[in-house]
Amino acid sequence: MSEARVHVERDGDIAIIAIDNPPINAGSTAVRQGVLAAVQQLEADATLRGAVLIGAGSTFIGGSDLREFGQPLAEPQLPAVIAAIEACSKPVVAALHGAALGGGFELALGCDARVAVPGAVVGLPEVTLGIIPGAGGTQRLPRLVGIPRAIRMICSGERLAAVAALEAGIVDALADGDLRAAAVAHARSLAGRKQRLRERAVPPADAAAIDEAAQAALVAGKRRPAVQLAIDAVIKSARAPIDEALAEERAVFQRLRLSREAFALRHQFFAERDSARHPSLEGASPRAVQRVAVIGAGTMGSGIAIAGLEAGYDVLLLEQDAAALERGATRIHEHFVGRVQSGKLKAATAAAAEARLQASLDWSRLADADLVIEAVFEDLAVKRQVFERIDAHARPGAALASNTSYLDLDAIAAATRRPQDVIGLHFFSPANVMKLLEVVRGKASAPDALAAGLAVGKKLKKMALLTGNAFGFIGNRIYSAYRRQCEFMIEEGATPDQVDAALQRFGFAMGPFAVADLSGLDIAWRMRQAQAATRDTAARYVHIPDRLCEAGRLGRKTGAGYYAYPPAAKGPQVDPAVQVLIERCRADKGITARPFDDAEIVRRAMLAIVNEAALLLAEGVAERATDVDVALVNGYGFPRWEGGPVFWAREQGEAALSAGVDELARCSGPGFVRGALRHVLSEGAQT
Ligand code: NAD
Repeated sequence: MSEARVHVERDGDIAIIAIDNPPINAGSTAVRQGVLAAVQQLEADATLRGAVLIGAGSTFIGGSDLREFGQPLAEPQLPAVIAAIEACSKPVVAALHGAALGGGFELALGCDARVAVPGAVVGLPEVTLGIIPGAGGTQRLPRLVGIPRAIRMICSGERLAAVAALEAGIVDALADGDLRAAAVAHARSLAGRKQRLRERAVPPADAAAIDEAAQAALVAGKRRPAVQLAIDAVIKSARAPIDEALAEERAVFQRLRLSREAFALRHQFFAERDSARHPSLEGASPRAVQRVAVIGAGTMGSGIAIAGLEAGYDVLLLEQDAAALERGATRIHEHFVGRVQSGKLKAATAAAAEARLQASLDWSRLADADLVIEAVFEDLAVKRQVFERIDAHARPGAALASNTSYLDLDAIAAATRRPQDVIGLHFFSPANVMKLLEVVRGKASAPDALAAGLAVGKKLKKMALLTGNAFGFIGNRIYSAYRRQCEFMIEEGATPDQVDAALQRFGFAMGPFAVADLSGLDIAWRMRQAQAATRDTAARYVHIPDRLCEAGRLGRKTGAGYYAYPPAAKGPQVDPAVQVLIERCRADKGITARPFDDAEIVRRAMLAIVNEAALLLAEGVAERATDVDVALVNGYGFPRWEGGPVFWAREQGEAALSAGVDELARCSGPGFVRGALRHVLSEGAQT
């Protein structure tokens, strides 16, 4: 017998059906059994006039138990539970606090009314998991909000706060104080009346509005299969009898939940859920952070400051240079003006955020900061000097972070008398937009300082993960192995646009050469020059990017790189001059170009990623294989629906993967280091 996950109490003539499945009251089999039994009890007990369905603890139902979605579903399934509520002759009121998501929200839509506290959120995130709502979400929601809005909500997985849900007609009433009491009162006020959504008509909508919502959803959802199927299901709500539409919705849900894409998205979901919960930091309580100081008001510093202000931190922006400080402060101000003008932020919220910013040249003010984030030039001597200064002013116990991309965190920490307080916080550009945040563990970093880094990441709404201190950390190191392999392929006969197109067709947001042009070829060029003296001379070295830089083709900012960017054209244009340059490089090495196809390009690029991941895991820089998936999806435009490179690798199987890496080693020539694939393959089962 499984433990009871639903408890029933009475409040006079109203039954209180409490779901108690911590931490998020996930809608598991035991929960469904419990709710069904409680509804049967409600029907049978003549002294009861209605019921309230409520979550124990801090939430309603945060979602279904996703682990069940990869297996045969146990009875009773959710549609049967909802059907029982609808068939019951007495009203059931859903009392919402915390989150009512996915199946939890569908259950609430199956009730006769919804009462919510202002902090509650509702939403149907199924499409983001490669499936569609399968328990009536696509049929009941449009009956409340109309088809266009239902398409928007369902296809984007939007979470609506209770106040907005009330305005939209999804929630019947807000409870200011005691939710349970308000829901009980609401249930009594229904006086036994049922209010089944299934009996309501779908509000009429004009075809143009529906089409507009559908097209926008398809574009935003990258035309993934679940998006189109969700649109079809919602549209059907107005065209077919509800039982027929419900049956069809369920059939699509059942098919999609076992699709490869749904498995991949669930894998990524769990990898992301666990990314900031690192086993090595278990028990460490994060140092408290409210005041953040950002040093350096350049591209990254101002982006980090914006992210901090938007998350509610007090931010002190420090510079060495008054003009740079002014430029940074102006950039931040312009950001908020733009957000207000575009309607993304209320003027009062923007003003409150800006009021929390202080820009200064006075370093003694660092004494107030709980967390200092350094974002000055990428130069070890400069960073060490800055950390000496931070050390002189910061209060004891403040966490001190560097945003370095490639420098040795331990060498930076050694400039202070408190290396235990020093961590890396590697943001990506633009720092207020990009999701990924690598929290870097130096050899002396204290667990509570690292935990503070992860906690700040969460508050900044970043996808934070822990990485060891090694050149490029996890993300940039893998990305550079990937890009190097792509350079090998253009040296061997592929063209940059062919490689970009193949990888984009695979699902990358952009190809590696278009990305290189966008970020500028000169950063990597300078790095190669700096490393020239220590480079392994036997290792294969592709000269193409150097030749492009020498020709002044530094990427988009100079109007030319791997592609040309004529002012009149939109986006990258294939440039014959690049082809000539590449052919010259091949001729210098006596390489005869050979044809490539998409499959080979994708295979080699993916294997380069997987091999580098295996090396990082062996070195302990990455401690969990799934962190690689989180990094690539959130920081490098890797297609989420492919589940990340580790999911991809596990799907290939060990034999094929090993043969693939043999091929990669042959193609890559001297200097290629093979990783032990077991590191990538071993961790955890697929969900
Ligand atoms: P930037 O040149 O735009 O800004 C650096 C700022 O630091 C300048 O405003 C400069 O005046 C200030 N500064 C320099 N020395 C200082 C000192 N001693 N004291 C106070 N301020 C000082 O550079 P950026 O692109 O913002 O990069 C900053 C850091 O972020 C670097 O370590 C870089 O590697 C890292 N980073 C950059 C990116 C990116 O894409 N730009 C991405 C991730 C990480």
